Amino acid sequence: MTDIEDDGTDALAALLGEPAERVLRVLGGGWERAEVATRYPPGAEWFAAGVPAQVLVGVAGRTLAVARPVPRRDPSGGLRTDAADVAELAVEDMQLAPDVVTAAVDLSVRRRRASFRWCLLCRQLTAPESAHDRRSCRACAVRFRGAGR
Ligand SMILES: [Zn+2]
Repeated sequence: MTDIEDDGTDALAALLGEPAERVLRVLGGGWERAEVATRYPPGAEWFAAGVPAQVLVGVAGRTLAVARPVPRRDPSGGLRTDAADVAELAVEDMQLAPDVVTAAVDLSVRRRRASFRWCLLCRQLTAPESAHDRRSCRACAVRFRGAGR
């Protein structure tokens, strides 16, 4: 049991067969189930952490994948998330090489955060998929400049 209310992390811990405390220590928290379009590793169940998503973890059997989320707008305006820079580890690494797993998570988080920009109008941190251009987010583009109308 953990004192932190974190249903996604509990689900990830159950899938890994690891205690939630180890998941929090090695992978961090804030995990939620995620739809990921990437089909590798085959059959992986994906989880994302961060708002906007900053890192992905996929579990397929005894394979533990750590990846950078790349959400993209499709022509209909919906979002699809691909997994990039997939690091293929083993679930056993949670116990045998936790520093390697943590380093893979940190690398994905750093790469993803490096793609974020500050909107010059609302001053909020904006992921690429939520940006109108390099200066503003989509919401501000619609509100202040009439874009998308
Ligand atoms: Zn904005």
